[in-house]
Amino acid sequence: MNIKRGLLIGRIQPLHNGHMSVIQDTLNEVDELIIGIGSADQSHTNSNPFTSGERVLMLSKALREYKVDPSRYYIIPLEDIACNSLWVGHVKMLTPPFEKVYSGNSLVKQLFRENKIEVVQPPLFNREEYSGTEVRKRILNNENWEDLVPQSVIEVINEIDGVERMQNLNKKEVSELIK
Ligand code: NAD
Repeated sequence: MNIKRGLLIGRIQPLHNGHMSVIQDTLNEVDELIIGIGSADQSHTNSNPFTSGERVLMLSKALREYKVDPSRYYIIPLEDIACNSLWVGHVKMLTPPFEKVYSGNSLVKQLFRENKIEVVQPPLFNREEYSGTEVRKRILNNENWEDLVPQSVIEVINEIDGVERMQNLNKKEVSELIK
C-alpha cells in the first residue's frame, strides 16, 4: 500500500485551537502527518517563549486529549538555518518522506514550491483569535488566553510557569529599551 504522508510545519508558540483544527482536517486527507516544530532552536524571547521540548509536550498532550491515534503522526523539531535556499533540504533530511506540504506561511510555500513539492494552503479558522501572536499578547496583558488553546496547553504552560516566564521576559525587554 502506498502511504500518503503530509508535512505541516508550525512555530507553535504556543499551540492553539487553530493549529488543532488544521491538524485534524489534514489528518482526514493523509494517512500519516509529520508535524514539524519550526524554530526549534528558539526560546525565551517575546515571540518564541517556549522551548522545542515544551512545544513537543503541548502537541503530544493535546493530540492525546483530542484522541488522535499516535500511529498517525510524527512530531519532529526543526531548527532554523541561516540560508533559506537550503532549508527544504534541511527539512527533508530530518523528516520521514512526504509528498505534500500544508502551510499558510508565504516563505514556507515559496521554498517548497521552488523545490517542486506540492503545497496546500489550509483554510484559516477564526484567525483574529486563533493566532500565536494573540495568545502571547493576552498572556502578557493578563487577559483570557485560556479559551484560545486546548486544555492540555493550559496545563503545560502552568507546569512550566510559562505565564511568569513571559511576563518576566517582557519586563526585561522594556527595561533594556529604557537604558
Ligand atoms: P505558525 O505556528 O504561525 O503556523 C503554522 C501553520 O498553522 C500555518 O502555516 C497555518 O497553516 C496553520 N494555522 C495557524 N493559525 C491557524 C488558524 N487560525 N486556523 C487554521 N490554521 C492555522 O508557524 P509558521 O510561521 O507557519 O512556521 C513556519 C516555520 O518555518 C517557522 O518556525 C520558520 O522559522 C520556519 N522556517 C525556517 C526557515 C529557515 O530556517 N531558513 C525558512 C522558512 C521557514
